[in-house]
Amino acid sequence: MILGLMQTTPLLVSGILRYAASAHARREIVSRLIDEPLWRYDYAGLAARAAQAAHALAGLGVRSGDRVSSLAWNTHRHLELFYAVPGLGAVLHTANPRLSDEQIVFTINHAASSVLLFDRNFAELVARLAPRLTTVKTFVMLSDAERTHDAGVGAISYETLIAGQAQSFDWPTFDENAGAFLCYTSGTTGDPKGVLYSHRAVVLHAMAGGLASAFGLTAFDVVMPCSSLYHATAWGLPFTAPICGAKLVLPADKMDGASLHPLIQGEGVTFTGGVPTIWTMYLAYLEQTGQRPDSLKRVVIGGSAVPRAMAETFKTQYGVDVLQIWGMTETCPLGVIATPTPSLAALGEDALNDAIWTRQGRLQFGIELKVENEDGSEAPRDGETSGALKVRGPWVIQRYYRQESDAAEADGWFDTGDIATLDEHGFMRITDRQKDVIKSGGEWISSIDLENIAAGCPGVKIAAVIGVPHPKWEERPLMIIEAHEGAALGKAEVLNYLAPRIVKWWTPDDVVFAAVPLTATGKIDKKVLREAWRGHLMT
Ligand code: ADP
Repeated sequence: MILGLMQTTPLLVSGILRYAASAHARREIVSRLIDEPLWRYDYAGLAARAAQAAHALAGLGVRSGDRVSSLAWNTHRHLELFYAVPGLGAVLHTANPRLSDEQIVFTINHAASSVLLFDRNFAELVARLAPRLTTVKTFVMLSDAERTHDAGVGAISYETLIAGQAQSFDWPTFDENAGAFLCYTSGTTGDPKGVLYSHRAVVLHAMAGGLASAFGLTAFDVVMPCSSLYHATAWGLPFTAPICGAKLVLPADKMDGASLHPLIQGEGVTFTGGVPTIWTMYLAYLEQTGQRPDSLKRVVIGGSAVPRAMAETFKTQYGVDVLQIWGMTETCPLGVIATPTPSLAALGEDALNDAIWTRQGRLQFGIELKVENEDGSEAPRDGETSGALKVRGPWVIQRYYRQESDAAEADGWFDTGDIATLDEHGFMRITDRQKDVIKSGGEWISSIDLENIAAGCPGVKIAAVIGVPHPKWEERPLMIIEAHEGAALGKAEVLNYLAPRIVKWWTPDDVVFAAVPLTATGKIDKKVLREAWRGHLMT
């Protein structure tokens, strides 16, 4: 081997901020806040305030390698922490407020953070948790001086803390493999597990996300992340947007249609993204009010499977393209993205739409994917054979935080826990999570496919399908429907809708109507459903 003779500049999060402040200094950032007026500044302003925050945190004793936790929504202050904390060489643990009290306490103690910065509407939560937070020494309320109260924990105001600090920071240079963000999985089984993103992973992931074959952002885009900043860094959009020079719009904690629509219209949002439940609410809002998202061009949806009907409605009624993505906390989180290819386009518009609307996405440079049969051999890429989905690459987990052994196999492959197929066009389709698959008479029924089809039935808000023990067939599908308010919908309507669209033996043995519980990351909580309906007698 002969070494290359190029520079070895480390890939650091601070490099993104420096770039945006110099190349896109005046590109705007707009943020909603908790009971404060809309905030406006730009990338130069972000750089100045992130520098102030870094000085202030250093003043609190935060050093390289230390952990700092946030409990915060999608706001400009949280964004400042995204740059200030890793910029210092410390690690930002973005605590997930939707976890249980026990789990939030567990994650902050496990991270051993010395500072907790929280939005004002978490004051009660923080007061409740504080006695059990064994490592936090300083509490900071992400609020202006007037509205800050000590919340019973001696909290100080973020604005007071950073006021008067220098507006530039000599960001240190260090190993690009240093930890930058600590994100915990939602812990549906056991304690949440920490995934520690390195600077290198965050930067490579953000660059890949901007490619035209992925999100395809340009400096003309106006990007509104509706995936939470605390959940796997909102798909890296806080980094991809500045790399591409896009305007950023941050909606704080309000993700309902009536709150999002004025932001989309008022700020000219072209690109947004979030979990399917947000877009179910948004489409219902548009339908009820007869309004249209004039500037919107693309919506990225992931975290759970996108119902085909949702993608179709966005396209046919509003001219908005839906890009489905698949990923997980362990993959930073982007894995695959559904964007068109010439080979699909050659099959005609219907086939193209069908692939884009029903597949999670296609192979992206940087993430290798394979589907494994039960005997460990690789499944053919025929779009039919399903098996265990494994991934590897520079933004895939090697080992969970503070665990002794690797989560990935020796050759890097990480088992995602998903069941999927791959096809000749490089498109991946998730058929189920390993633990959710329904085994009926020795065959598998895809709960995701059934849910997706049922989601297209008029009046259905959320459709969930679980396997319920059955004396003859081992398991049979039970469908739980949460209907839109006022919808006249019964079991017969749902079954009639399904009948021409599925093979007969997939027909749910029963359809019941109830609220569908969601997890901390907005997915259907099948564990709760299985427990609740375990003894349900099929009719
Ligand atoms: P959690 O902490 O709930 O596991 P993650 O966001 O890490 O949160 O969840 C990742 C999982 O979400 C994936 O393994 C997959 O099962 C599911 N998922 C993500 N995107 C999609 C999608 N587009 N379609 C179907 N399932 C998805």
